[in-house]
Parts: sequence; structure tokens; C-alpha cells
Amino acid sequence: MAINKHEMPDSETPRLDELEKGPWPSFVTEMREAAGKKPAARDLMRQLEKSYGEKVGHWKHGGIVGVKGYGGGVIGRYSDSPEEFPGVREFHTLRVNQPSGWFYTSKALRQLCDVWDKHGSGLTNFHGSTGDVILLGAPTGNLQACFDDLSDIGFDLGGSGGDLRTPSACVGPARCEFANFDTLDACQKVTMAFQDELHRPQWPYKFKVKISGCPNDCVAAQARADFSLIGTWRDTLRIDQEAVKAYAAQGMDIRGEVCDHCPTRALSWDDAQKQLNLVAEDCVRCMHCINKMPRAIRPGVQKGATVLIGGKATILRSAFLSWVLVPFIKVEPPYTELLDLLRRITDWWADNAKSRERIGELIYRVGMRTFLDGVGLPAVPQMVKEPRANPYIFWRSEEVK
Ligand code: SF4
Ligand code: SF4
Repeated sequence: MAINKHEMPDSETPRLDELEKGPWPSFVTEMREAAGKKPAARDLMRQLEKSYGEKVGHWKHGGIVGVKGYGGGVIGRYSDSPEEFPGVREFHTLRVNQPSGWFYTSKALRQLCDVWDKHGSGLTNFHGSTGDVILLGAPTGNLQACFDDLSDIGFDLGGSGGDLRTPSACVGPARCEFANFDTLDACQKVTMAFQDELHRPQWPYKFKVKISGCPNDCVAAQARADFSLIGTWRDTLRIDQEAVKAYAAQGMDIRGEVCDHCPTRALSWDDAQKQLNLVAEDCVRCMHCINKMPRAIRPGVQKGATVLIGGKATILRSAFLSWVLVPFIKVEPPYTELLDLLRRITDWWADNAKSRERIGELIYRVGMRTFLDGVGLPAVPQMVKEPRANPYIFWRSEEVK
């Protein structure tokens, strides 16, 4: 449909208009285009203009909305000024489960947009921070029909509320040579194995699973996910000395740029021999040298992943970075070990957590030992959250040989 940029007079939104100035893309421009077609988008702009002026938000909570058979996936949103902004009286958000790695065909994207043009405001967010496609703004009466149409084109809702949030994975082996396992397949299998938990909130709070193919951690799993799977290797780095020499010949300062930034000084550069030496047991798999010299250094051949637990943003307690739970696990179909572990962990958390308590906070409250007993995992040195600061590891007498 042709879009008339000036259908809505600028004078209605002078503050938002300021955000279109300058050389950068502007969300206001996108909203204005949608406002040419949809009253909801226009009222959204007018309400936002009011909020900017008053420095007060005009959304209110209240009312559970959803679609048949699902408890999550739709987030209720209502204007607190429906008489003034009738187009956003009901402006609910749908979370749509993204494909692994965010790959779409253009046909699928067009179908998705057609469904959303038919039932909603036309405004989208590709993608929300959880990873889903976010469809912004539909009235209550359109939700079921929108969901039915999404189902017909092969899309499903993602998670919201006290459930498994939509798992997400980095692009992995589809485009990245650093992947240590098939992140896309693992993410899809976790999603399918936990369909009930994804769609029907039954847990104390949200639970996030994020999957990165290597320690570069492109989905920021460690900082955000309750359960992180991060690709790694068990044996030693593979170094192609001829390729290292080629980097040196091209002018790379191997010692300064690579060895001096190795966090454990596992690498050293022999300038006379033009050789890169590695103390394999000191490598902590940080990826720095691989990132600097991808043609010369590769992960080992025994590939898998490290499982980390407990990442989260601030809610009950401050933000937590995840810490290591299982140093190495194979991540291969049918993923039995991985799925069993995830099931044991979520069961234990669901049985023991207080309302709105993330698993990292629960472990903090009851202790790591209680958690390990609960999920049937042995203690290993890598689990110590701050190995250089906390020397206390408690062993039961029967565990000491
Ligand atoms: Fe590649 Fe690693 Fe990033 Fe995944 S996390 S896309 S494997 S660099
Ligand atoms: Fe050092 Fe990191 Fe390379 Fe290992 S991966 S040798 S820790 S720079």
C-alpha cells in the first residue's frame, strides 16, 4: 500500500518530530509511516508525545489476555487514557517464536507482515531482546484470529510470564566457523521438548535458555540466561604455524596483539623461530587468539559445550553473571543428556523457588550444595563461582578418599 508520510500533521507530535532530525534512522519515521495506514499507530504517537511532555507513561497493567490453550505469548497492554487515544485502548503485544538463528525466507516475512497488517497496528520489533518477533499492538478481539493466521503460516507464539522464555541461539554453523556444535538444531530441539512449559506458565518466574556456539557468546547468554550453553572444546587448540608466520609476514605483532592479551599467558611467540608456542593446560578458551588469527588457530576437535547457570538482570537481587555448572557436555542429537539436565534443573527450581525468584537467586539463597544435591550433579572445581576469591570447598567425609 502506498504510504502518505504527511497524512498525520507534524504539529500533532512536535517532540517526536525532533527525533527524526539528523542523519540517523528514526523509529518515529517508521511509526509515522504506519500511522498513515493505522489509527492505532497514530494514537500511539499521540500518546507517546503526551508522555514525553508530561514525563509520565500512559500504559496501565490489568487484565489477562491470551489465546485458546496458551497462557503465555501475549502481553496485555492498555492505555490509561482510552477516551483521548481510542486507537490504543487495547494495544496488546504478541511474542512470536523466531526461527533458530533468525533465518527467514522473504516469503515467510511477507506472510508474517500480511497477518500483522490484517490484525494489528502494523508495528513490529525485529527482534525483542529475548529473541522473538514482537508484534506491537492488537485489540483483544483480534488476538485469536491473529494467532490462528500465524499458525496457518507456520509460526507459533513465544513465552511470557512465569514460563520458559523463547530459547534463542547464535547463528552458529549456518554462517560461523567458530561454532563448536549445531546451535540451531539444539535450540530447536530444546524449544520442541519444552513446548508445554513455553506456552503454559506454571513456574515461579521466567526461565531463559540461550545458546552460543563458542565463548564469543554472541547471544550474551552468560549475562542474561538462567541456563546457558556455550560451545567449547575439550582438547587443545590447533595451531597452523605456517599460517601464523603468514600473519607475522603481513605485519601482525604476534606478541603484542595476541600473546600479551592471552589472559593466562598460555601463548608465547618465539621471534627467532617464528613459532607460536602454547601451554595447552593453561588455555582457558577465551577465543582471543582465534579471533585475532582465525586462519591460523582453531578450536580442538573434541567439541561440545559448557553449561552455565544463574545469569539474570536485577530483580530480587542484583544482576548475576552465570557461572559454570558442567564444564563439558556433548551436544549432539538426540540431546538426551542436555534435555535431562535441563528438566532436572527446572523441576528443582519450580519446586523450591519463591514467587519471582530466578534460579540464580534461589541458589544464592539455599546454597550451591543444596542445588547440586537437588539436581544430582557432582561438585567439580570449575563450579566455584569466584575461584580466585573463594577458597572454601566443602566435602563430606564419605567423599574424601
Ligand atoms: Fe560464531 Fe561463536 Fe558468535 Fe556463535 S557465538 S555466531 S559460534 S562467534
Ligand atoms: Fe590464551 Fe584465550 Fe588463546 Fe586460550 S583461547 S591460548 S586463553 S588467548
